[in-house]
Amino acid sequence: MHDNDLSAIIEADRAHVWHHMFQHQLLESRDPRIIVEGKGMRVWDQNGREFLDAVSGGVWTVNVGYGRERIANAVRDQLIKMNYFAGSAGSIPAAKFAEVLTAKTPGLSRMYYCNSGSEANEKAFKMVRQISAQRYGGKKSKILYRDRDYHGTTIATLSACGQQQRATHYGPFVPDFVEVPHCLEYRKQWDVENYGERAAEAIEEVILREGPDTVGALCLEPVTAGGGVITPPKGYWEKVQEICRKYDILLHIDEVVCGMGRTGEWFGYQNYGIEPDFVTTAKGVASGYAAIAVMLTSDRVFDMFKDKPEDPLNHFRDISTFGGCTAGPAAALENVAIIEEEGLLDNTKAMGKRLMDGLAMLEDKHALIGNTRGLGLFCGAELVADRETREPLAEKLVQAVVAECDKQGVIIGATMRSLPGFNNTLCFSPALISTPDDIDEILTAVDNALTTVAAAM
Ligand code: PLP
Repeated sequence: MHDNDLSAIIEADRAHVWHHMFQHQLLESRDPRIIVEGKGMRVWDQNGREFLDAVSGGVWTVNVGYGRERIANAVRDQLIKMNYFAGSAGSIPAAKFAEVLTAKTPGLSRMYYCNSGSEANEKAFKMVRQISAQRYGGKKSKILYRDRDYHGTTIATLSACGQQQRATHYGPFVPDFVEVPHCLEYRKQWDVENYGERAAEAIEEVILREGPDTVGALCLEPVTAGGGVITPPKGYWEKVQEICRKYDILLHIDEVVCGMGRTGEWFGYQNYGIEPDFVTTAKGVASGYAAIAVMLTSDRVFDMFKDKPEDPLNHFRDISTFGGCTAGPAAALENVAIIEEEGLLDNTKAMGKRLMDGLAMLEDKHALIGNTRGLGLFCGAELVADRETREPLAEKLVQAVVAECDKQGVIIGATMRSLPGFNNTLCFSPALISTPDDIDEILTAVDNALTTVAAAM
């Protein structure tokens, strides 16, 4: 089958490919979309239609944009020189990238390579369980996660899933994962002035209920992504950090989405001055040019995994065949160099502000927008049927807004598989190379889409 034989490719796709998060009945009445090319901020489908991609590859991934020959060449050169050897040995790009990235995460000087965000999170979960077994007689094994957060697709990470629709039907789950309340102020759970502090205290209440000596770690997204683009309220993170220290609980920040510049800092947590024990990151690490994820941790944690004469099983007995496979760190090194050389953190701050300001103007204009929030180039607009009651807009209307943007050649996202009834937040996460014209094009498409959908209601 030739690459240009598009009808054969479409038929092969229809007959054999099981797409992710996709209802295949939809393909009874239309062709699958096949993305054939990308350059900068733009992608083209099988029919030659051009789109501005406002979601970086659909799921917040292609941070430096499409078609970067420099990354492709680095991967090619590395693969010809040395494509693979197991991670019990080192490789040149793995050592170089570990040095580059840990220089950006003071206090976290150890890096563990793996393949996906889910896997990186599982590595941290395994470490927490092993620390509990080795230091606390297995007692400090509970891992807290937050309502609306998502940490991956495996059974263990789904055991830590705050998005009910993603986890439904996949149980039974792994024991000792406990949920804490979310911190979205727009969906108030407490009528208080200092909302951030109160939301953090709600975590403390769960810790006290469970017993602090049974809780090993707290795993949180710095800004909740798929659960609704939730930026934490003021005072939240300071209090969370204080609580973790008070009860000797390891703080695990899931930077799978927010890492690698998405929020205008290298990592989302760095906006809040917190000091985590684990950081996991994946999507933007190599901007999708190679599969790579990493888990970062401190020397303190690393030192807990030294074998002892009385326990030869004290080291971390984990392996990931393709974790650290040389293409990943080779691509990641170039990815970081591009972010630095092109000043993309500053650009993210500036373009993120333009996007947020634009969304705020749309909020003034369109009653369908109940709330806008975001940090850097990671923004959301929560849609409501009624501003007074804050009733979420029906999912099919939210999807109609997404579809209207698509018709105008702009791909945006919406929260999916969040709480039932709450898949109502439009998501925007364009590449960090966005220009003012790109941002304005996104805003114009959303403006038109909201007008069209509201008129049809
Ligand atoms: N953590 C967060 C916050 C995510 O959004 C995702 C995926 O969307 C994951 C973890 C899982 O990453 P992966 O799909 O690479 O396993």
